[in-house]
Amino acid sequence: MSKIQIAIDGPASAGKSTVAKIIAKDLNFVYCDTGAMYRAVTFAGLQARVSLTDSAALIALLAQTPLSFQPSATGQKVFLGHQEVTEEIRSQAVNQEVSGVSALKEVREKLVELQQEIAASQNIVMDGRDIGTQVLPQAQVKIFLIASVAERAKRRYQENLSKGQAADLAEIAESIAKRDYLDSHRAVSPLKKAADAVEVDTTGLNIQEVVDTIKKIISSKVPDLQFL
Ligand code: C5P
Repeated sequence: MSKIQIAIDGPASAGKSTVAKIIAKDLNFVYCDTGAMYRAVTFAGLQARVSLTDSAALIALLAQTPLSFQPSATGQKVFLGHQEVTEEIRSQAVNQEVSGVSALKEVREKLVELQQEIAASQNIVMDGRDIGTQVLPQAQVKIFLIASVAERAKRRYQENLSKGQAADLAEIAESIAKRDYLDSHRAVSPLKKAADAVEVDTTGLNIQEVVDTIKKIISSKVPDLQFL
């Protein structure tokens, strides 16, 4: 039987990874966070102090220290070679630089190739910006998650506070709006809803409500799928 692919795209902090993880678990599918891949390349470049506009140098780093994911009780761990970078890839320094790195054509080509390899052999829920348009254009289910900037900033603010991290609501809102702009206006694979994606506006919805909405969409597209 051919593999089932569920693509979840949308802007920064729309809740993609939270709901994608739950959906993947409830379907017993693999979850792939493609944002973590762009973040890991950005972190590798910052750590090695290479120019973040030098695609060849960034891709060479990826060849030296390959990117991998490992499931764990506390969520998915991200590795570059043997170094765990799960926390480091969420730093403010990476937040600031990742849109620039993800706009590099050669870096995208390399990561899209890796993403397509991951999806070829297993049923998958993949989240990102270009999954429904570029990475998995044949996905059986495509979701485009959106929420207002104010709502997304509020969620990120609360998440930071709950982790004991300093947070400034206005600064977070500004950083989200800036990433939205850069991600939607880049020349290569901009953030864009696929023609056949279903848009879900999560403003005012809690996680369970978003998960339930997406499960209904999945069941309407692939009626045979069973949730655990
Ligand atoms: O999803 P997350 O916010 O972690 O993604 C970090 C950044 O990686 C995004 O702002 C975007 O620039 C880039 N990205 C991308 N294509 C994807 C996933 C993420 O360009 N498929």
